[in-house]
Amino acid sequence: MTMQATRDWHVGARHLAWKALDTTVAGLSEAEAADRLVRFGPNALPVSAGRHPALRFLAHFNNALIYFLFAAAAAALALGHEVDAGVILAVVLVNALVGFVQEGKAERALEAIRALISPRAAALRDGLRTSVSVDALVPGDVVMLEAGERVPADLRLVRARGLLIDEALLTGESVAASKDDGERNDVGLARNAALGDRSNMTFSGTMVAAGQGVGIVVETGVGTQIGRIARLLQNLGTTSTPLLRQIDAFARKFTLIVGVATVLLFVFAVYVRAYAWPDALIAVVALAVGVIPEGLPAVITITMAIGVRRMAARNAVIRKLPAVETLGATSVICTDKTGTLTRGEMTAARIVIPDHELTVTGAGYAPEGRLEAGIDDDDAAAIAAAMPLLESGLLSNDAELRQKTGRWSVLGDPMEGALIALAGKAGLDAAHVRAEWPRVDEIPFDAAHRYMASLHRGPAGAHAIFIKGAPEALFAMVAGPFDRAKWDAAIARAAEGGERVLAFGVKRLGALQDAGSTARLTNAALTDVQFLGLVGFIDPPRPEAVAAIAECRSAGIAVKMITGDHAATALAIARQIELADDPRGVTGAELDEITDIDLQALVQRVSVFARTSPEHKLRIVRALQIDGAVVAMTGDGVNDAPSLKASDVGIAMGNKGTEAAKEAADIVLLDDNFASIVAAVHEGRTVYDNIRKVIVWTLATNGGETLAVVLAIVVGFQLPLTATQILWTNLLLASTLGLALAFEPSEPGIMGRAPRPVASPLLSGHLAWRVCLTSAILASIILGMSFWAATNGRDLATARTMVVNMIMVTGIIHLFNVRYTYGTSMTWRGALGTPAVLASIAIIFAAQAMFTYAPFMQDLFDSRALSFWDWAAIFYVSVGLFIIMEAEKLWNRRRYKRELTRHRYMVEKIARHAT
Ligand code: ADP
Ligand code: MG
Repeated sequence: MTMQATRDWHVGARHLAWKALDTTVAGLSEAEAADRLVRFGPNALPVSAGRHPALRFLAHFNNALIYFLFAAAAAALALGHEVDAGVILAVVLVNALVGFVQEGKAERALEAIRALISPRAAALRDGLRTSVSVDALVPGDVVMLEAGERVPADLRLVRARGLLIDEALLTGESVAASKDDGERNDVGLARNAALGDRSNMTFSGTMVAAGQGVGIVVETGVGTQIGRIARLLQNLGTTSTPLLRQIDAFARKFTLIVGVATVLLFVFAVYVRAYAWPDALIAVVALAVGVIPEGLPAVITITMAIGVRRMAARNAVIRKLPAVETLGATSVICTDKTGTLTRGEMTAARIVIPDHELTVTGAGYAPEGRLEAGIDDDDAAAIAAAMPLLESGLLSNDAELRQKTGRWSVLGDPMEGALIALAGKAGLDAAHVRAEWPRVDEIPFDAAHRYMASLHRGPAGAHAIFIKGAPEALFAMVAGPFDRAKWDAAIARAAEGGERVLAFGVKRLGALQDAGSTARLTNAALTDVQFLGLVGFIDPPRPEAVAAIAECRSAGIAVKMITGDHAATALAIARQIELADDPRGVTGAELDEITDIDLQALVQRVSVFARTSPEHKLRIVRALQIDGAVVAMTGDGVNDAPSLKASDVGIAMGNKGTEAAKEAADIVLLDDNFASIVAAVHEGRTVYDNIRKVIVWTLATNGGETLAVVLAIVVGFQLPLTATQILWTNLLLASTLGLALAFEPSEPGIMGRAPRPVASPLLSGHLAWRVCLTSAILASIILGMSFWAATNGRDLATARTMVVNMIMVTGIIHLFNVRYTYGTSMTWRGALGTPAVLASIAIIFAAQAMFTYAPFMQDLFDSRALSFWDWAAIFYVSVGLFIIMEAEKLWNRRRYKRELTRHRYMVEKIARHAT
């Protein structure tokens, strides 16, 4: 095989491409593909190297606050305070280092998670349709295209059915380009055809807007058109979130206020309290450094990254970071039924044909089981009568069954797979029937028209169209007298038990004028169809979805089922999973009749939306959002992209979802499972809780210390600790305990609370009050300790050493208090803490032991060794503090109690399900 680097693949007839690429209609063999992968390299564009680590590290110094600290260090040095300068520089350095290391870890984790949703393509290998990682495609691979997928490489088309490609990426043209396989006129295009006019090619990175196609891979990686212009596909998501922006804005305002206050305090200290100005300057600078939560944005980013990792472990991959926080506020989840609430593993359980009704035994996709007619009917006669229906089911069918190590699985649509198994039970061989009736053309299944039809050429020049789809869709195509009431009754009987009902039809055409492989099938041909009968499929609910629904109900999250399925089927499943106490349903047709205003009221009452099309989803999302709901919405098809974008949290299916749906979504579910959505909401709530805990703890701890020093200066009392010591406590606490809260697990009962209102401020009134109260308590402890030490014969340096140790202990006690917003900390789980908490405490103890007893630290920080009685004083105060803080919680618990009992009955329900 020889290939020029820049061949004009659009030129010439198709067989030239087959030949040049040395491939066949069965595709490449796996061995040949592996060989070519070595020769041609992976089908990927070189990734930009990213920023150099040194640059990333330096970026942590590029912020106004750090400049301020550098200036402070320089000032300290100039005034001869070398130790202070050194500590300030250490604060800066440790801060940058912690940020750099954690950021790197978070980035690597995100990369690994993104690899989980790297795109795949459907290619023929050894004659079988195989899911191949896009990287592994090689020239000569035969690739199938479907609506909503990205074209994985440059392809020469050999088959196109209604294929429309959005090529804006390459040509800037916003109208999707129509493609043609050249079947009717196989001569290829002019060599100088512009990119946008190469209608027999599709290009890597462009999006299939509609239709189906098959193409031969002609160029991969950098050889593709997109590779030549070396433009990378859009990056995933942003790294900023509304919360981070809110915090940034808060931090900027805060810094400004602190700046002004610092100047005022400096002036006051020098002119009113007669401090020497260098001392005053160092003191106020240390205070400013202490009170500004410089580490906060980094800690919050880390908290979110941890949330992303936990969600990925529960099969929910975050594509856009803001979803992490929005998830926690979700108040309505709109979900698909098939495969999400149900297992999506179908088994045909009943056949209804004009004069017979059969039940089917055997589960799974193995063609093992029997077809049994009723008691006063003959099995053999009934099966014979069902043959046309079974054949129709095999032919208007794109699925394949595969047996691997004794287990049967389906490639393609599970319902179509179930039809192959069903035919097998009746003794029909799919390969044989399909060989006898080769397909000429088809109208693919589309959620908007709900049927699939295919045109086939049979023995002796006969032709036939086989159709399967929603019963209503087929009823509309049927000719002549037709007992609609009888069939409706049969549908109702099957749907009552949650069966999914599919109807079958055939139109026999005889010989065609426009014969051969170029005949085309259009909607207009679907009249005068012979109705063959119905098949009912069982698709049981996922047990974990039942538990997850109960969890949602206890968490005050409404769940709406939005499905293309029949209303009766959907309602039966809704009852089985206890979607609501008495689930009510509405159909897409009914939705079309009502105004958006009426819809707003309706969406509150109804929990099942049946026979809907993707456009209805958009209306439902909007109607819910007007009432302030935070809506999570699932989707899989190309037409779902608008509603996924409009919803607050768009969720795409990882398995059955198209690339278009995934790209529009905020989250991709690896297992298509409803329970994973609820798990993600759970983690989202945890992230938000933890961020709040970090903020409350940081503000209160910094605030208490600052308040104490400011009060001391204002009233003219001895400084409870030196500037250097302020910097030391700040450095140690922020880099240990502050970070530890990011790793907190979920609080018990986290899914027993109502969703938080979106508009709620980060610090609700109650939390703001707690910050102020705690700051005040900490400040009085610091001042009290300082005063007590001074009046009980301790020299100033010893008193300050006691205060520094006291601050550390209060930081730890406050941390344990903050860990449980809603419950007491006095439980075993509370006492034991997390590894992060325990490690932080160990570091603090070690560092404080050095601070207090190591001679070189005593030189640096002017600290003194403490006696047993000094420690005893610290211990007493600590116990007192712990009691006061727990008492405050107990006092306020009554307020939460109302909130918690509201959902009590739901919690009991979960318990019932769990057993
Ligand atoms: P769901 O919300 O259950 O996933 P779909 O939109 O996939 O619903 O399907 C809606 C209806 O379209 C089904 O109830 C069925 O009647 C019909 N249908 C689904 N898949 C196919 C298919 N592959 N071929 C023909 N008809 C189908
Ligand atoms: Mg479906």
